[in-house]
Amino acid sequence: MRNAAFLRRELVELLRAKGIADERVLEAIGTVPRHVFIPDSSLQHRAYEDEAIPIRRGQTISQPFTVAYMTALLDAQPGERILEVGTGSGYQAAVLVALGARVFSVERHKPLLDQTRGVLAEHGISVRTRHGDGMEGWRAYAPYDAIIVTAAGPDVPPDLVEQLRAPTETKPGGRLVIPIGEHDGQQQIYRIRRTGADEIETEPLAKVRFVPLLPGTPGA
Ligand code: SAH
Repeated sequence: MRNAAFLRRELVELLRAKGIADERVLEAIGTVPRHVFIPDSSLQHRAYEDEAIPIRRGQTISQPFTVAYMTALLDAQPGERILEVGTGSGYQAAVLVALGARVFSVERHKPLLDQTRGVLAEHGISVRTRHGDGMEGWRAYAPYDAIIVTAAGPDVPPDLVEQLRAPTETKPGGRLVIPIGEHDGQQQIYRIRRTGADEIETEPLAKVRFVPLLPGTPGA
């Protein structure tokens, strides 16, 4: 795509106009080539419109506004360990890498994950990925400074809360950004902070629409 850099700058200005104010997030969106995460080349020309785009198997690459909004809520800092549930196209993971985070990502669809691993490798984007049910988190690398869930479920998976870093005297606990709601209806984004060993704080935020967070792995 020859004019990708130009279209990305336009997208950044659109997101700014829609209320995204986090300059680090805007810069990351301005850097990551979203079109390479769209497998269907006939849809790549829409990569820098503020729209969700189908990837395969009924999944989508989330709308840039949603990615920017959730990434800003996550507040990923360089060097932080971040878990993503729902690797999908890999775009959200690439945005987190652009922010300097160490990214771990779980996807339940094996063929989709294999394809995405190829794209990430081809573009030298370092994300540790795993095929599995992300509702269980990824215990081997826990605890995480932050967890982002990019599919919507009816409630907060307890394993994810458990894998957030607990607060210490000098550092607040980890945070979880997750859309919650029924599959067919509207969902709401929540930011949850771990405030103690068995304590969380929950903040309801914007209303959105996501693909469903489903249990298990297909065929498993
Ligand atoms: N972050 C992705 C968004 C993809 S859509 C991107 O930037 O493109 C959400 C993804 O979540 C889909 O690929 C879907 O297969 C996956 N998903 C749904 N439930 C899941 C679960 N329990 N564990 C892991 N992945 C899941």
